[in-house]
Amino acid sequence: MNLSYDDIMAAAAEIGFDLCGVTSAAPLPDEKSRFAHWLAGGNQGNLGYMERNSDKRFAPALLVEGAESVIVCGLAYGVPNEAEGCTDGKRAKIAPYACREDYHSVFRRLLPQLAERLGLNEKGIRWRAFTDSAPLAEKALAVRAGIGRIGRNSLLITEQVGSRILLGELVVCAPTDRYSEPVAQNPCSGCGLCIERCPASAILPEGGVDTRKCIACRTVEPAVTLGEEGTAGWLFGCDECQVCCPCNQKAEKIDNPLISTLFNPSEFSAEWWTEISDEEFVERFGTTPMSRAGAERLRAGAKKL
Ligand code: SF4
Ligand code: SF4
Repeated sequence: MNLSYDDIMAAAAEIGFDLCGVTSAAPLPDEKSRFAHWLAGGNQGNLGYMERNSDKRFAPALLVEGAESVIVCGLAYGVPNEAEGCTDGKRAKIAPYACREDYHSVFRRLLPQLAERLGLNEKGIRWRAFTDSAPLAEKALAVRAGIGRIGRNSLLITEQVGSRILLGELVVCAPTDRYSEPVAQNPCSGCGLCIERCPASAILPEGGVDTRKCIACRTVEPAVTLGEEGTAGWLFGCDECQVCCPCNQKAEKIDNPLISTLFNPSEFSAEWWTEISDEEFVERFGTTPMSRAGAERLRAGAKKL
């Protein structure tokens, strides 16, 4: 049974997604070979999970048996909380997406709603929802689904909202009557500002990011100690290659209420961060992406501010 492309787009808009595209679940061999080259350069550092399941990552039907289509949905947070730093003048940078409800929870709530609106269960069509939660090449699928193109900063860049977009996918075991057209022209002009401004020189000239250097990877991934050399001033995430990007400066500023800001880092002092108790951390940040780091890592990172 073919699903209707128009019904999918309408249902996604009704739920509140800012962008949606549909692509087939066919393998992505070119992206797989680029990824293999990136891995061969050791750019995954100690993110060992990147090395596993490469076959599944680039072939959704190996991840979900019988998969035929992938619906890629995006939530925009185009109005970042520009405020950063501490009440005592020290720097405590936290990426804007992390000051919001954890997008994993948001997509876990919204994607089943999309499946329900499309009547997938009643039609006996199997589906699975993903957001960063499994080896699935979501940026590559988003490109094929016409959401955007990859910029030199290795982020997905959309014409509408720049790179400030969070992605979730519904992998569906049914074809659709048509698929989205990929974006013809890359919104990234290749200006190189992101490379110039990256404080860690982590953006590779041939594309991709060296996670061993990238502050976002080093402050978010549990395998790394916060406050290590090169991350001082950052508590969670990094945003420099997005702040400087002209695509974001000229993009429509959409702040999706489904993923609204929960706190502003500039409300706290550096000392407060070093002393936050486990309980207060959970109470204040337990529903944000910061919970991934945990109180202990945040306290350690704050000592280096
Ligand atoms: S800063 Fe320039 S080169 Fe980098 S992603 Fe944006 S447009 Fe592309
Ligand atoms: S997130 Fe920060 S450290 Fe990582 S590539 Fe972008 S600017 Fe560089």
